Amino acid sequence: MTQNSAPFAPLIELNDGVRIPQFGLGTYKIAPEDTQQAVETAIELGYRHIDTAALYGNEAEVGAAVRASGLPREELFITTKVWNDRQAEARVALEESLQRLGLDYVDLYLIHWPSPAQNQFVNAFEQMLRAKDEGLLRSAGVSNFEIDHLETLIDATGTLPSVNQIELHPRFQQTELAAWCGAHNIAVEPWSPLGRLRYELGDYPELAAMAEAHGKSLAQVVLRWHVQHGRIVFPKSSSAAHMAENGAVFDFELSATEMAALDALDAGEEGRQGPNPREMGA
Ligand code: NAD
Repeated sequence: MTQNSAPFAPLIELNDGVRIPQFGLGTYKIAPEDTQQAVETAIELGYRHIDTAALYGNEAEVGAAVRASGLPREELFITTKVWNDRQAEARVALEESLQRLGLDYVDLYLIHWPSPAQNQFVNAFEQMLRAKDEGLLRSAGVSNFEIDHLETLIDATGTLPSVNQIELHPRFQQTELAAWCGAHNIAVEPWSPLGRLRYELGDYPELAAMAEAHGKSLAQVVLRWHVQHGRIVFPKSSSAAHMAENGAVFDFELSATEMAALDALDAGEEGRQGPNPREMGA
């Protein structure tokens, strides 16, 4: 068995009482053949929260790494998601994910996209709430939901999703949606927290100055900004060096001025990199 470091991330309590590590590992685009090693490395480094999805094709390898870690199941937090074409049969999709993962339950199950044209997300969430009662998932959340989708869901089910996982990085901050979630005690999980580094963080002199002042990398400054906003982050990496770097953001603090400088990088809709949730998964 490998030597696992102590967990480094604080726990955040969700609106349903479930506690989630504020920092984890994203696994989108980690190839299945690399996933078990990447997740094992992350756990050795003290990561305890892994974000996957049926879409990513690597649930089996995430589950294998969980078992190989030798840690008690309750010390790890595993999220997976129902893909758009399975919303009408979310319960079956969940059981299939559990089978691939080789787990009895997931900690967090998300509707991956609202896919509003299908008009199935309320049905999917109701199935998830029943599965939660049966112990197949601990917490039920959503991803890529806009305010009107959240309102429809909450009105129909009388239940707040625990989290909304949305595209959010310095150039695309979704301030209105994030504030709405905050006001309703729905935790915000930014996906692509580093903007997938598709834009050069080094192009922003404000960031470079902050990184230098704190003796940290540009990625660490951005991840620290998320953490100080109270968000739950899980940058993707399969390199041990980047994983270690990304997790080392709990030993320094950005000032209010530095936080404001990062907030000011928002480019609105121009900064969006991924699909628009209104058009995705029709
Ligand atoms: P990200 O912002 O985490 O960026 C990942 C890229 O940055 C990778 O190319 C990686 O190699 C690189 N990187 C990571 N750490 C680095 C470092 N310290 N220095 C330099 N480069 C570094 O983007 P992401 O993977 O899109 O998002 C993170 C996670 O969010 C995903 O893996 C997935 O779990 C989740 N996600 C969810 C959705 C959704 O629709 N719900 C969509 C996309 C991603």
